Formats: sequence, structure tokens, C-alpha cells
Amino acid sequence: MRVYNFSAGPAVMPEEVLEKAAGEMLEQGGSGQSVMEMSHRSKEYETVQNECEALLRETLAIPGNYRVLFTQGGAHMQFEMVPLNLMVKGKADFVVTGQWAGKAYSEAKKYGAANLVASSEDKTFSYIPALDSSKFDKDADYFHICQNNTIFGTRFPELPETGGVPLVADMSSCILSEPVDVSKYGLIYACAQKNMGPAGVTVVIIREDLIRDLSGSKVPVMLRYQIYAENNSLYNTPPTFAIYMCGLVLKWIKEKGGLTAMKSLNEKKAAVLYDYLDSSKLFKSTVEKKFRSLMNAPFVTGNEKLDKKFIKEAKEAGFVNLGGHRSVGGMRASIYNAMPVEGVEKLVAFMKKFEEENL
Ligand SMILES: *Cc1c(COP(=O)(O)O)cnc(C)c1O
Repeated sequence: MRVYNFSAGPAVMPEEVLEKAAGEMLEQGGSGQSVMEMSHRSKEYETVQNECEALLRETLAIPGNYRVLFTQGGAHMQFEMVPLNLMVKGKADFVVTGQWAGKAYSEAKKYGAANLVASSEDKTFSYIPALDSSKFDKDADYFHICQNNTIFGTRFPELPETGGVPLVADMSSCILSEPVDVSKYGLIYACAQKNMGPAGVTVVIIREDLIRDLSGSKVPVMLRYQIYAENNSLYNTPPTFAIYMCGLVLKWIKEKGGLTAMKSLNEKKAAVLYDYLDSSKLFKSTVEKKFRSLMNAPFVTGNEKLDKKFIKEAKEAGFVNLGGHRSVGGMRASIYNAMPVEGVEKLVAFMKKFEEENL
């Protein structure tokens, strides 16, 4: 029996997608082979990858002057690739709103001057700090944010106005959750295993003029955007199966009505959960209202023992992976695109029952 999976990642996938992949496991299209068995240099595989890219471009309305790259190494590798490729003058601005934003910041320090514009560490990253634009470096190579903070459950309610400085966003846990205006960014990156597909592939959407010619430099070949761009992400063997699965997820999103439909479903789910948290006498959200994520909702009872009891009983009732990140404890419900509304409604009903029994 399938459970309601609230994991932050790798996370729940749409059931229709898993069924489709199961049906194609032995033979993909008319090829007589699984996509896993195909040469990455074959026409058949090329079609799979090109379709995935085309669907991503259509879904996110990616402008023609942006390239879509498929890399490996997760979002973590982008913490290195972004400074290695984008730091020309050797300086960048950072807003530290959680663990991932903090890692992007500390990794970048190895390659140049990383300017900390603002941080919300003083209140355990429970809000998005106000940004004072006089602290922005007008001459920076880029301005980095983590748009949705998977661990702490916050998101930027609006984007910083960076003028001519390219905005770089880690969108690992919010990509495809609602429409975005790609033209506002210089570079977007997202590992797949939250809202896009299985682990193994990371998508980079980069404005063409930011792809620097690094020929002759010491930057490792596999860490140059240029190499991915020049070789249609086929310089070496890409994570073929993961890319195929992302294509299926994108098809599923399209069939459901695209990102506008995703957004309204995600808002509905978030409202069901947050409304209950705000009315509950036992559970409470740890995030200031206007910064709450649509995708990841941390909450606590205020009593660690009771938190553990809740996580255990929830699991027994078929609601799994509700433990908070190992660095913060408490609970967290990740409610990505593939989590149905009824999953959140049933979770809330279970929480109400738990509240009655334990208050
Ligand atoms: C999950 C996550 C990461 C880390 O991704 P890896 O693929 O494990 O490197 C980074 N940033 C955000 C926002 C995430 O949600």
C-alpha cells in the first residue's frame, strides 16, 4: 500500500508518472529496450532528452536567450560551479536565509569576495530579512539567493532588485511549483529530487551571455557551463534515466494545466495546513506568516517528546517522513506538486485527532 510521503527530498512523485515508467520499463517507445539500456549517443535517447528540455522550456516559458543544462553533483555542485564560472571580477552578493544559502555563501568565499548582504540566522532562519540596497555591490558578478528554504520553510515573497547584477537562485525545492519570470534571473539551478523527478540530475537555466569561455583555464572541464552548453549536456554520459523521469513529470504537469494549475493546488494545500496550524492549540508553525513556503511547512508542539510521539503515530497511520531536518528537529511536511490535496486534508484530520488525544 502506498503511503502519504511528506519527505523533503527525494520526495513523492506523481503516481501516474511511476505507472507510466513501470509500463515502459522493458521497452521505451518502439525501441525494444529500456531507456536505461540506451546509448546516450543514440537517436532514441536524444529524443528523450530533447523532449524533456522542450517541455521544461514550454512549462517555465524560458526565453530563447537562455540555455538549459543537465548536470550531476546535485545543488551542491552548483555551490562550486556558480562562482567558478560567474566570478569574473571576483565578487558576489549573498543573502543567507538557511543552510543551503549558507553553503553557497561559504563555498563562494574560496573563489572570491563574498559579500553578506543580510542573514536571518539571528532567529533561526524563521523569516526573510529586509534587504538594504545600499549594501548591494553594484559591481558584483552576481547576487545569490536560495528562493525557497527547504529546511526552515521560508521563501522570498518578492525578488531583490539587483539592477544590472545577475540574480542567481537556488530553486531546488520550489521549481515548477508556480510560474516564474525566468527573464528576471541570470541563472537558476535546481536539483531534481524535490519537485521535478528522481535524484541524479540537476537543471541549470543560464542566460547565454553568462556562459564564459573557460578554455585554457584550470577550472575542471566538468565544472564549466561552456562544456555542457557546447555539447547539449552530452559531453559525458548524462543521468539518462533521471532525465527521462523528469520528462514524464513535465508531461504530467502539462496535462494537469501547467504551472498556473500547480500554483493554485499548492496554495490550496498550504492553506489547509497553515490555517489548521494557526488555529491549533498544540501545533504551531515556526515561520512568520508572510514568509511561509508553499512547499515545506515546519511545525512543532513545543515539546520534543510529543513531537517524537506524533512522528511515530503519524507513520503508523500512513503519513511518513514528517520529521524535521536533522539540524532543527520538530516536524516538517513537504507538500510538493505530487502531494494530492486529499493527502494534506487527511494529515490535518490526523493532527486534529492527535491534538484532542494529547492536549
Ligand atoms: C535539497 C537542496 C539542496 C541540496 O541538494 P543536493 O542535490 O543534495 O546537493 C540545496 N538547496 C536546496 C534549496 C535544496 O532544497
